[in-house]
Amino acid sequence: MTARPTFIGLPDEAFVGGKWRTASGPTSEITDPANGQILQTVSQCTATDVDDAVAAGAAASADPGWCGLLPHQRARYLHRIADLIERDADRLATLQTFNTGKTFTETRALVGSAAATFRYFAAVVETHDEPMTTARGNYRTWIQHEPIGVIGAIAPWNSPIASDAQKLAPALAAGNAVILKPAEWTPLVSLALARLIEESGLPAGLVSVLPGRGSVVGDAIVRHPGVGKVSFTGGTSTGRGLAHIAADKLMPVSLELGGKSPTVVLDDADVEQAIAGVIYGIFSSSGQSCIAGSRLFVQESLYDEFVGRLIERTRSLRVGDGFDPSTRVGPLVHRRHRDSVAGYVDLAREEGGRILCGGAIPDDPALACGAYYLPTIIDGLGAQARACREEIFGPVLVVLPFTDDDDLVAKANDSVYGLAAGIWTRDYRRALALAGRIDAGTVWINTYKAFSISTPFGGIKESGLGTEKGREGIAAYSRVKGVYLGMDPEPNPWVPA
Ligand code: NAP
Repeated sequence: MTARPTFIGLPDEAFVGGKWRTASGPTSEITDPANGQILQTVSQCTATDVDDAVAAGAAASADPGWCGLLPHQRARYLHRIADLIERDADRLATLQTFNTGKTFTETRALVGSAAATFRYFAAVVETHDEPMTTARGNYRTWIQHEPIGVIGAIAPWNSPIASDAQKLAPALAAGNAVILKPAEWTPLVSLALARLIEESGLPAGLVSVLPGRGSVVGDAIVRHPGVGKVSFTGGTSTGRGLAHIAADKLMPVSLELGGKSPTVVLDDADVEQAIAGVIYGIFSSSGQSCIAGSRLFVQESLYDEFVGRLIERTRSLRVGDGFDPSTRVGPLVHRRHRDSVAGYVDLAREEGGRILCGGAIPDDPALACGAYYLPTIIDGLGAQARACREEIFGPVLVVLPFTDDDDLVAKANDSVYGLAAGIWTRDYRRALALAGRIDAGTVWINTYKAFSISTPFGGIKESGLGTEKGREGIAAYSRVKGVYLGMDPEPNPWVPA
């Protein structure tokens, strides 16, 4: 166990319209999930702060100093932000490990991915061509992408900074202003990012970061008439509520929602590779990942051998403080969330599930004050059990057998979700056929949770609406305009001379 770094707090201020100020609502305590201690307090924003942020964002996005910039000039700001994130990467990752409990290895990777996201969208905006479209008369015609204006970006607590960057970078690249609302439990790294954005020299007002409650500040952002689009990442029921409000406003909305992703091990899989992939897919980030492979389907002929070895390897995962380099499974984000995960495991027991490993809070006294839960594997559940159907968002894997590919597809698709899937097999023909048949926005074959900013990402069914990332990620923050340029030298003959 290495010594924990010293926590260096941030001033209790929100970044509203380019100015730092104490938010207008009550304060909330930000806790360290590794030991339950209060790290600092943060004042929560309210509708008043949203009003000010929207007014500043609207003015800044319409200012010629921003809207008059050419794409390569906007790209320079994104590179500057990336430079600053890279300069302060260790500090940001440390802050995030304190706030979320994720291991430092994971938070360091998230910080790196945030910088890479700003660079990627800088490159995309610089190389984005506006296509000429095919004329059907004596004119030229083309498409023009224009900024929407003020974007509301609402983020969850599981991967702040990476999820912040996935919204901020394409929205700014497209020429918008952005109001970011981090999750109430995890605002610290988003506020630290705001200080770097300020340091980058980005014109004031283009980015606001408003910590606070979803039901207060999040709701005010979605309902505000000055907000032209909301990009939301979070749970399906929250996303559905937002979509109703957006429908009333006729406002576009992107929704990145929950998942209950199937991982499939076929009878010809490379077992060692599959075991490592399955374990990483569910237990990294302590299972708090929208794409966690939380339902494991193993072909019957391999079931006993595979599950036996899986249990053995899972028991060897070290559970502990995220700052300890040997830790693989850190605490969950909050004691309240840990209790929700524990409640699902209790329910699975009542529904007839066999707890093959874990299924408890660790008994190590050093972890007693933290939000820890042991990596848990459950089998023997029916497909209708709640642990098989609902997103637990913790280190809990349910295992189910299947007979053949048709049986597998029926079972894997028996879910309201369609976010991701994993397939482990040596037979690429079989893998590709299954990849086409499983309902998922992303399919991994012989890998899991590989994540590239250049590949579009989005869920189907109740896992989301729209896509983020990829070259098209920028289009999600643009309005499309068709422009016609008449080439006829004569007046329109329809009008009598
Ligand atoms: P959540 O409860 O839905 O909250 C997400 C965000 O929405 C938070 O900032 C939350 O604020 C805010 N919010 C809550 N109620 C709101 C309202 N009425 N109006 C506007 N905003 C509101 O989700 P979470 O528990 O933070 O995150 C876990 C969920 O996110 C999981 O379901 C996970 O699968 C999903 N997720 C999806 C993806 C993806 O890309 N598909 C990625 C990561 C996570 P508060 O913090 O104040 O509640």
